[in-house]
Amino acid sequence: SEILIQAKNIKKYFPTSDRNKVVKAVDDISFDIYKGETLGVVGESGCGKSTTGRMVLKLLDCTEGTVLYKGKDIGKMKGKEMRSLRKEMQIIFQDPYASLDPRKTVFQILAEPFWIHHPEMSKEEIYREVEKLIECVGLRPEHILRYPHEFSGGQRQRVGIARAIALHPEFVVCDEPVSALDVSIQAQVINLMQDIKKEYQLTYLFISHDLRIIKHFCDRVMVMYLGNIVELGTKEAIYGNQRHPYTKALLSAVSSVKGHGSKNRIILQGDIPSPVNPPSGCPFHTRCSCCMDICREKKPDLKKMADGTLVACHLDME
Ligand code: SF4
Ligand code: MG
Repeated sequence: SEILIQAKNIKKYFPTSDRNKVVKAVDDISFDIYKGETLGVVGESGCGKSTTGRMVLKLLDCTEGTVLYKGKDIGKMKGKEMRSLRKEMQIIFQDPYASLDPRKTVFQILAEPFWIHHPEMSKEEIYREVEKLIECVGLRPEHILRYPHEFSGGQRQRVGIARAIALHPEFVVCDEPVSALDVSIQAQVINLMQDIKKEYQLTYLFISHDLRIIKHFCDRVMVMYLGNIVELGTKEAIYGNQRHPYTKALLSAVSSVKGHGSKNRIILQGDIPSPVNPPSGCPFHTRCSCCMDICREKKPDLKKMADGTLVACHLDME
């Protein structure tokens, strides 16, 4: 299928107060996003998921590497091209409480993208667009003049979703969009996002630490650890034939929560190392029960398996 976005060897290093040290938030990763797919990004907190999403949107510049959108380097875009990129790419944030301005009504929040990008539209035209958006995300007409604090978390996230789709984007980064919501509300919001994806023919980069939501929602899955991609494949490959020791550990923790497969549970030893001074060799070697000598010295490249899955590990696997 058609490639919409290509990330090529992107890195994000942040300076620290110690001039000799940097935080390697994202450390040289490459991946493609296909038009129309939902690519899931999963990993523990601090693994670089959100930073990756923000670099793809150009909300953060890459320290090194390039992101191509429809074949064009977004790092070089300016002026008109940049403005149209801002329309075509959107983000839904984790925290609908923090991402909506409390002093603005829902109308003001949803009208703003039109004021910025379509100054030619009349107030009536914009009002009609906002009404349509409100209906599309399952809110009611009387909600238009209310403020964010008058809503529940789920309703607020509906407003956040409406804002993201207002200008009919092509691509949306969803950064833990339901993690701040009650579990009982999560499914409703996820279903809404799925309906909207179909209706607006969107492509999603879906960031979550929740493997069950990723499984439900995504076509392909990218597993990240300490700023690196450790495994990337179809949902079927990742959930049915996971190969990387880290992916196996993550998944075994989920299945034992559900009360089966607990005898196969792989306990992750120790904490995630700091991204300042990450371990030499394989980033996972300090916690891996399969660690070999080579793992401490040499960082494994992503290797392609027969089914197309990419795995970064020195173990012999197929
Ligand atoms: Fe474990 Fe070595 Fe594979 Fe890293 S490369 S995941 S340490 S076996
Ligand atoms: Mg995050």
